[in-house]
Amino acid sequence: MTAISSSTAATLAADQQAARVDLAAAFRWFARLNMHESVANHLSVAVSADGATFLINPRGRHFSRLCASDLLLLDANDPTTPEREDAPDPTAWHLHARLHARLPHARCVMHLHPKYATALACLEDPTLYPIDMNTMRFFGRVALDDQFSGMALSDSEGDRTADLMSEGKSVLLMANHGVLVIGLNVAAAFDELYYFERAAETLLTCYATGKALRIVPEAAAALTERQWRDYGQLAIDHLNNIKAILDAEEPTYRR
Ligand SMILES: [Zn+2]
Repeated sequence: MTAISSSTAATLAADQQAARVDLAAAFRWFARLNMHESVANHLSVAVSADGATFLINPRGRHFSRLCASDLLLLDANDPTTPEREDAPDPTAWHLHARLHARLPHARCVMHLHPKYATALACLEDPTLYPIDMNTMRFFGRVALDDQFSGMALSDSEGDRTADLMSEGKSVLLMANHGVLVIGLNVAAAFDELYYFERAAETLLTCYATGKALRIVPEAAAALTERQWRDYGQLAIDHLNNIKAILDAEEPTYRR
């Protein structure tokens, strides 16, 4: 091995370890927020340039117990993966492998069934109306999959999801099911999912009052969405603070 290739290998290994730690922190925090469900739901992050090699949670493990070294390293293009002894949950495989194989910009993919986003996905009109800054953050960013047809036990749901995540979409609201977000890294996807759940909570709290919504004009919503994009550092600061809290209170996530 040449000096350059060994330095490249060291960089790739360090990048993968950093991705493992970031994703482990996201699992632990979603558990604290009660946004996970039992031992289901899945988060993944790509670690190769083409996006096809990715880390994902192992099957049947509670988010609150996951450590960096527990995450599976998978190849999205390896059809034998479901036959491995440590194969991931089949619905996780069919969804995340197709997204990582087809959408290299979807570096991080997070899928949960959190209370408010899932309730929104179960409404006949699941539009996230722009009524506060959090809902406006998602103006034009949300795609809707209205074709629920049972659990995803084939590649068709992953392919359908990839088709729906066109340019500019970061959230897929999955009707009668839950929500999925994509991001350029763990911090971006984590922050997006956190804020989407907060936005859905606000909208559903407004619906619960029975009063009419005060929806802002499209221009104001579009401007606010653009302004959120200029706050990219917020997502990095958010995850860094989560890791600092975990380092003090449950540092095993880094193992
Ligand atoms: Zn699901």
